[in-house]
Amino acid sequence: MAYPIGIDLGTTNCVAAVWQRGQAVTIPVDGQGTLPSAISVRSDGILIGQPAKGRAQIAPASSVTSVKRFIGDGKTKWEIEGKTYTPVDVSAMLLGRLKEAAEAHLGEAITEAVITVPAYFNNNQKRDTKLAGEAAGFEVLQLLPEPTAAAIQYGLDKGKNQTLLVYDLGGGTFDVSILEVKENDFNVVAVDGDFHLGGDDFDLLLVDHLIGLIEEQTKEDMGLFRSLFGRKGKKKKGSETATREMLLARQRLKEAAEIAKIELSQADRTCVSLPNILGTSLDEEITIDTYNRLIEPMVARTIEKIREVLASARLTSDDIDRVILVGGSTRNRLVKEQVTKAVKEPWTSEHVDEAVAQGAAIVAGSMAAPDLDMTPVEININNVTPFSLGVCSYEKESTRCINSIIIHKNRPVPCEEARPYELQTAAGRDNKLEAYMLQGESENPAECLVIGKYIFTGVSHTPGALAKVEIQYGYDKNGIITAAAREQSTGKALELHVEALPDDMTWLDEISRGGSFDPSNLKLIVTPPGYDDVGSVLTSLQLPFIVYTERQPLDCDIFFWNCLASTHPSAEAIRDYVSDGGCLYASCCAARDLDDAFPGAIEFDHSGCRSETIQADVIDMDLTKTVGKNLRIQYNTAACYTVSLQGPGSKVLLREAATGKDVMVMVPFGKGHIFYTCFHHHEDLSKDEKSLLQFLVMKQISVVSGIPIEAVSSEIRT
Ligand code: ADP
Ligand code: MG
Repeated sequence: MAYPIGIDLGTTNCVAAVWQRGQAVTIPVDGQGTLPSAISVRSDGILIGQPAKGRAQIAPASSVTSVKRFIGDGKTKWEIEGKTYTPVDVSAMLLGRLKEAAEAHLGEAITEAVITVPAYFNNNQKRDTKLAGEAAGFEVLQLLPEPTAAAIQYGLDKGKNQTLLVYDLGGGTFDVSILEVKENDFNVVAVDGDFHLGGDDFDLLLVDHLIGLIEEQTKEDMGLFRSLFGRKGKKKKGSETATREMLLARQRLKEAAEIAKIELSQADRTCVSLPNILGTSLDEEITIDTYNRLIEPMVARTIEKIREVLASARLTSDDIDRVILVGGSTRNRLVKEQVTKAVKEPWTSEHVDEAVAQGAAIVAGSMAAPDLDMTPVEININNVTPFSLGVCSYEKESTRCINSIIIHKNRPVPCEEARPYELQTAAGRDNKLEAYMLQGESENPAECLVIGKYIFTGVSHTPGALAKVEIQYGYDKNGIITAAAREQSTGKALELHVEALPDDMTWLDEISRGGSFDPSNLKLIVTPPGYDDVGSVLTSLQLPFIVYTERQPLDCDIFFWNCLASTHPSAEAIRDYVSDGGCLYASCCAARDLDDAFPGAIEFDHSGCRSETIQADVIDMDLTKTVGKNLRIQYNTAACYTVSLQGPGSKVLLREAATGKDVMVMVPFGKGHIFYTCFHHHEDLSKDEKSLLQFLVMKQISVVSGIPIEAVSSEIRT
C-alpha cells in the first residue's frame, strides 16, 4: 500500500508532507521545503516553481502566480502561447510537480492525498481544488481546513480541551481562526482575515523604500517604474510600455527586498547591494527599525482582525489557551511581538511554512498510512460558516435594498436558517420570487458578492394580500450551500431553479443607494378620473400620486392618462414629455389623441367596441413567453379600441386569446415609453383583474426605474 500525502496548496508556496516512521516529514522539492506557486510557459516547455517565480517578474504575460486567488471563480483564464489555462489546470500542474517529488522521495507511486483549503473557501473553490487534485492524478481523500491542519500539527495530544487561535500570515493572505479542540474533535468556531495582506506586501513596502533611495540619487521620476509593482491579481498598469531593463530591474528589486526581509527576521541590519540599477547603484544598509516602521501599519491590521475574530467568537484573549503561528510571514519579528502583546506568547514551530502540510500528512496518515507506527485516530473536523449569507431585499423603513442576512457568519456547519419575506403577487400569472443570494457582512448589497439567482415559482396569490414566503438557506456538512423556500401559511415548498446571474448587475448599486428604487419615491401624475380610475389602483398599491390640473407641468416619472379624462395636457406636451424619457400610461379612449401625439408609433384598429367576456394570454414579466392562458376578463366598456399593430420595438404584455389581439402593449418612443391598454380600472373589475392591473402598473414602474422590482421582496421585520 502506497503512502498518502498531505498537501498545502498555498497562494505563494505549496508544500507536501508525509507521515513516516512516527512523524510528519516535509518532502523536498528541488531541494527546498516549499514549491513557489508559480508556473511560466515557454515555447519549449513549462517551468514550475522557483524558476517560474523568477521568470514571472520579467515575463508576466506568460506566467501565472497566486492561482489560488482565482480558483473556483468560474471565469479566469490565461491565454499563453496559443493555449488556454484555467485555474484548475494551473493548480493541477503544481500538484503534479509535488506528486513527482513525493514519488522520487518515497520511491513509489503516490495516488492519495489530503489537500488543505482555507476555512473560508466556498463551494466552487473547494470543488475546483478537488478537480485539480484529480487532474494531477490523486484520489483526494479529504479537503482539510488549513487552520485545522495547523492545529493538528501543533499536537493531537497536547492537552485535552483547548481553545486555539491560529494566526496564518502567508505571502498574499492573512487568516485567523479560533478552534476548540476536544480530544480528537477539531471545531473551527470563528474565522476572519484579510485576503489581500501578506509577505508580498512587506516586500513591496521595502521595494518602494528602495525606489525612493534610487530617486534621491538619480533625481529621476520613477512613477512609471513604481506602477509596475501593482498587486498580484490586479492588472499591472504600464507593463506594456515598460522596457526590458525596467522589467529586469523590477525582478532584481523584488528579489533583493525579499532577501533583505528574510535576513531581518534573524539579524538587526542588512545590506542591499544592487550594482547598475536604473542608472545608479544601490548599496544601502537597512535596519530592523526602518523595516518595522514600514510594516507596522500592516501588522496592526492583522491585530485588529484578531480582536474581531475574538469578538465574533464571544471570547477574550484570556480564553485562548494557545496561539499558533503559521505561514512564512510569521517569521517577521514584529509579528511575534505584536501578537504577544495583543494575546499571549505564541507557539511557533521551526517550520512555520510547513505546518499546514504536515498537519494534512498526519490526517492522511491516520486515514490510510501503511506505516505501523501510526495508530489510526479518527479526527472529527467541524467548520463554521465563513461568511454571512443574505438575500437582496427591499426594506420598507429605509426605502432601499439591503442585504437581509439569513445565516450569520461563524455558525457551526451544518446549519439551516429561514426568514420570512413579503411579496406582491398578481392573479393569472406564475408568481415567482427571484432571490439574489448575497455573501458578505455589509448591509449594502453592492458591497457583497452576489453568488446566485434563485427563482422560486408557484407562489399562490390571495387577492388583496401580500404573499408571505420563507426563504431558507443552509450549509450541508461539506460546507455546500443549499436554498429552499416555502409559503408561510401553507408550508408548501416552492419549486426552485437557479439561473445564471445577469451580466449587468449595476442596478444593485443603484437600489442599495435607495431613493431611486422605492416606487413611492417616483412622481406619478394621474388625470382626473373619467370612465376609469387608475388612481384607485395606485392607492391600493400604496403609491402616492398627484392629480393633473391645467397648470400642472409634466415633470413626473409616469403620467397616467385615464379614459375620458376631464382634463389632459395637449398632444404636443405629451409628445415632448415622452420623447424626453417620460413614461406614459394611456387607456384605450385616448387612442385618437395618441394618434395625434405619436403619429406612426402606434396604429389603432378603431373598429371594435366590445361588451363580452374575453380570454387573454398573460405574457411573463420579461415579456418573452405566455405564462397564463385563458384569463377571463369581463370586458364591457362601451367605447374601446384594440391595438392592431404595434410600432417598431414594442412589446406585448397582454394578448387576447381568442382573437390574438393585443390588449396591452409597450411602445418605446424617444427616450421614453408609452404603455397602451384597453384593460383598465373601473367599477366592474373583479379582484383578479384588479391585481392584474396592479401587476401592469408595477411593470411600468420597473421599466421606469430600471430595476427588476419582482426580483426584490420586502422584508418582514420580525
Ligand atoms: P502561502 O500560505 O501564501 O502560500 P507561505 O506560508 O509559504 O505562503 O509564506 C510565504 C511568505 O513568507 C512569503 O512572502 C515569504 O517572503 C515569507 N517568508 C518566508 N520566510 C520568511 C522569513 N524568514 N522572514 C519573513 N518572511 C518570510
Ligand atoms: Mg498558507
